[in-house]
Amino acid sequence: MDRVGEAAVRAGRRPESIIVVAVTKTASPDQIRGIVEQGHIDLGENRVQQLIQRVAQLKEFLSRKRTLGRAATTPGHDAPDDVRWHMAGHLQRNKVKQVLPLVKLIHSIDSLRLAEEIQAVTARADTAVDILLEINASGEPSKQGVAPAAALHLAEQIDSMVHVRLRGLMTMAPRLENPEDARPTFARTAEIFEDIRTEGIGGNQFNILSMGMTNDFEVAIEQGANILRIGRAFFGETEQ
Ligand SMILES: *Cc1c(COP(=O)(O)O)cnc(C)c1O
Repeated sequence: MDRVGEAAVRAGRRPESIIVVAVTKTASPDQIRGIVEQGHIDLGENRVQQLIQRVAQLKEFLSRKRTLGRAATTPGHDAPDDVRWHMAGHLQRNKVKQVLPLVKLIHSIDSLRLAEEIQAVTARADTAVDILLEINASGEPSKQGVAPAAALHLAEQIDSMVHVRLRGLMTMAPRLENPEDARPTFARTAEIFEDIRTEGIGGNQFNILSMGMTNDFEVAIEQGANILRIGRAFFGETEQ
C-alpha cells in the first residue's frame, strides 16, 4: 500500500483516488481474514466457485466478530462491518445468477450476450449492477476481452441497458519480465476509456479504469488506473 501511495504521488495523483482490490486467489482463509482485520475493504476473485466459498467464509467470520463485539477484536485492528467483493475473472453466462448477489463490481464483461444475460437477471430482480468492459488491448489470442476496435460500439449497446451500469474499463497486460512492457497495453486502454467518455457513453458514472497487477501496478498508476487488482504482492505466489 505504501508503494501504491508513492507511485500515486510521483504521478501527481492523490493516493486516496486509487482503490486496491486484493485478489485472493492465492490466499488462505487466514490471510483473507488478516487483511480484512487490518481494514482492507475491497477483495477480488477470478473464479466463481472460489468467490462463493470465500464470500461465505468471510461473512461468517465478520458476523461472529460483530456478535462478540469490539472487546474481542485485536487491539489496534478494526475489521470493517462489510467488504466489497469484485469479480475479476471470466464469467460464464450460466453463472451470472449466482455471482450477482455477491459482488459490488464485475470487471470482466466481454460480450454483448453476457451483458444481455446480466440485464435479464437484474431486470427480473429489479436491481442493477456495476460493470466494466474488459479490453484485450494487447491483442493476445489467449486473453479474454473485447478487441479495441469493437469496444466503443459494445459500450454503446450496454449503455442502453437500464439494469446494467457501465462504469468503465478493465484490462490485463501480458505477464512480462519488465513492467515497462505493460505500458502500451495500459496506454491503449486509457485511450479507449477517453474515447468512450468523450462520446458521453455511461455519463458521469463512467469513471473507473481497472488495470495493474503485482508486476505492473506502478506503470498502471502512471497511465491513469484508479482500481488496481493485486494478488501475489499481498498473499504470495502459491495457489491454495
Ligand atoms: C490473479 C489476478 C490478478 C492479480 O494478479 P497478481 O499478479 O497476483 O497481482 C488480477 N486480475 C485478475 C483478473 C486475476 O486473475
